[in-house]
Amino acid sequence: MRYTCIAIILCSILKNASGQYNVSGKLLVFLLDGLRYDYLNNLDTFPGFQKIVENGVKVDYLTPEFPSLSFPNYYSLMTGRYTEVHQMIANKMWDMKPNTEFSLDDPLWWNGSEPLWVTMQKLDKRVYMYYWPGCDVEILGVRPSFCEPYKPNITEKNLTDAMEHALDALNDGQADMAAVFYDKVDVIGHLFGPQSLSDELHCLDRAMKALNEKVVEKNMSDVLNIVMFSDHGMSEITNLIELDKHINLSDVFMVLDVGPVMSLWPKEEKFEEIFTALSALENMTTYRRADIPDRFNYKKGKFVSTLTLVAKPGTVITPTFQAVLDLHFQPSTSGGKHGAHGYDNELVEMRGFFVAKGPDFKSNFRAGPIRAVDAYSVMCHTLGIEPLPNNGSFDRVRAMLRESSTAVPVTQDSCLLVLIGLFTCLHVSLH
Ligand code: ZN
Ligand code: ZN
Repeated sequence: MRYTCIAIILCSILKNASGQYNVSGKLLVFLLDGLRYDYLNNLDTFPGFQKIVENGVKVDYLTPEFPSLSFPNYYSLMTGRYTEVHQMIANKMWDMKPNTEFSLDDPLWWNGSEPLWVTMQKLDKRVYMYYWPGCDVEILGVRPSFCEPYKPNITEKNLTDAMEHALDALNDGQADMAAVFYDKVDVIGHLFGPQSLSDELHCLDRAMKALNEKVVEKNMSDVLNIVMFSDHGMSEITNLIELDKHINLSDVFMVLDVGPVMSLWPKEEKFEEIFTALSALENMTTYRRADIPDRFNYKKGKFVSTLTLVAKPGTVITPTFQAVLDLHFQPSTSGGKHGAHGYDNELVEMRGFFVAKGPDFKSNFRAGPIRAVDAYSVMCHTLGIEPLPNNGSFDRVRAMLRESSTAVPVTQDSCLLVLIGLFTCLHVSLH
């Protein structure tokens, strides 16, 4: 009886220590939009990041999901699911039936899957989010405990203030997880191309140096896991395809986006004519929905168009030249935007970045490549929560985790195992 009581007390302590069955520390996540896998190759010149890598893990690269655009990958990172599974298949979407276009604050586009922060809140854990796209949306009826709404192109001060606020919330027990979004690397990469980011990267590195100092100052090194990743890389634009030079745009119901990947819904009677005309163009591939490669894990998404155009590296597709002018999105020879992403997710230039440090991660460890869908189970592991069904591979991330890091969720089953173990010991000791 005494052993039973001890076991029950042990289970109860584990459960109540954090309100849920969790034995691990706190998690701080950074989504650094558009940080290509090779931008920080000369780590010697980025002392802030260098310190994180020396004390933690860096993967060779992170392969984004298709299309290598922001919103599809924000959601793959936070759900562990392919785009066709979580349903956020593009930055701009259209639902034919109610004739609804994507808007950032409409739960319709987010409710296709449950992101990590919603799962956490449902487990009575508290998530604080800063500038994270979607944190102000009620997804599946749930919002995070705190959300500083998305604001494009935040300043270095916005970033360091968010970090400080997040660390305080984690340190004083208000938050179990905090997540900070920063998109300036992506913004500058679009405007000036992937070769012109030196100032921006050093600005970001100063923020990382400040982060390292604050973690030490607040005595959080042994309890705080930090995970940082990006959603995709960036490629130089050298070529433009203007669709209105090849098809009559009045023959399509809807044409969406400007960039390396476009969605088209031709009128039924014009479908074959448009398909034939676009298939003849160089520097892009035109797919009927059924012919989209399986490896994109994309075509089963319910908002996927009847024709999908995927540009070759360096090419941007636009309905009209005016549409591209409106976005200042032009080949480098004519000024305007110089960088783009969204291409085939296996292209080297689309690769993203992933580093992590903290008590659950190995130190000074270089890990093999992972995929965007894998980041989810890493975060769940450090938070000690059971991942929802997902498309990631724990085998691809296992090597970066400390062997002593056994942050598996403590469940009623494991309490039962403790009881059985104690009864066995008691039984043996009586004989
Ligand atoms: Zn992005
Ligand atoms: Zn971008």
